[in-house]
Amino acid sequence: MLSQELLDILVCPACKGDLIYDATAQTLTCPACRLRYRIEDDIPIMLVEEGERLDVSGPATT
Ligand SMILES: [Zn+2]
Repeated sequence: MLSQELLDILVCPACKGDLIYDATAQTLTCPACRLRYRIEDDIPIMLVEEGERLDVSGPATT
Protein backbone atom coordinates (compact mmCIF):
# COMPACT_ATOMS: atom_id res chain seq x y z
CA MET A 1 0.00 0.00 0.00
CA LEU A 2 1.47 3.29 -1.04
CA SER A 3 1.21 6.23 1.30
CA GLN A 4 -0.84 9.23 0.29
CA GLU A 5 2.26 11.33 0.74
CA LEU A 6 4.11 9.32 -1.85
CA LEU A 7 1.16 9.34 -4.20
CA ASP A 8 1.00 13.12 -3.93
CA ILE A 9 4.53 13.58 -5.20
CA LEU A 10 4.45 10.92 -7.91
CA VAL A 11 3.94 12.21 -11.42
CA CYS A 12 4.11 10.64 -14.83
CA PRO A 13 7.75 10.54 -15.97
CA ALA A 14 6.69 11.30 -19.52
CA CYS A 15 4.37 14.27 -19.08
CA LYS A 16 4.73 15.15 -15.38
CA GLY A 17 0.99 14.81 -15.08
CA ASP A 18 -1.08 13.35 -12.27
CA LEU A 19 -1.44 9.60 -11.94
CA ILE A 20 -4.41 7.48 -10.98
CA TYR A 21 -3.61 4.93 -8.31
CA ASP A 22 -5.35 1.58 -8.49
CA ALA A 23 -4.84 -0.06 -5.12
CA THR A 24 -6.36 -3.34 -6.27
CA ALA A 25 -4.38 -3.75 -9.43
CA GLN A 26 -1.31 -2.08 -7.92
CA THR A 27 -0.81 0.19 -10.86
CA LEU A 28 -0.46 3.89 -11.53
CA THR A 29 -2.12 5.13 -14.68
CA CYS A 30 -1.43 8.31 -16.60
CA PRO A 31 -4.63 9.16 -18.48
CA ALA A 32 -2.83 11.75 -20.61
CA CYS A 33 -0.20 9.33 -21.94
CA ARG A 34 -2.38 6.25 -21.57
CA LEU A 35 0.47 4.52 -19.83
CA ARG A 36 0.14 2.23 -16.84
CA TYR A 37 3.01 1.77 -14.44
CA ARG A 38 3.42 -1.25 -12.22
CA ILE A 39 4.01 -1.17 -8.50
CA GLU A 40 6.27 -3.95 -7.27
CA ASP A 41 6.79 -4.47 -3.55
CA ASP A 42 5.39 -1.01 -2.90
CA ILE A 43 7.86 0.52 -5.31
CA PRO A 44 6.32 2.22 -8.33
CA ILE A 45 8.21 1.45 -11.52
CA MET A 46 8.19 4.97 -12.90
CA LEU A 47 9.92 4.32 -16.19
CA VAL A 48 8.30 5.23 -19.49
CA GLU A 49 9.84 2.22 -21.17
CA GLU A 50 8.42 -0.06 -18.46
CA GLY A 51 4.96 1.44 -18.73
CA GLU A 52 2.19 -0.57 -20.28
CA ARG A 53 0.47 1.24 -23.10
CA LEU A 54 -3.29 1.23 -22.80
CA ASP A 55 -5.52 0.95 -25.80
CA VAL A 56 -8.45 3.26 -26.37
CA SER A 57 -10.82 1.03 -24.44
CA GLY A 58 -8.63 1.16 -21.35
CA PRO A 59 -9.98 2.00 -17.90
CA ALA A 60 -8.33 5.41 -17.69
CA THR A 61 -10.76 8.20 -16.99
CA THR A 62 -10.47 11.59 -15.42
ZN1 LIG B 1 1.86 11.02 -18.75
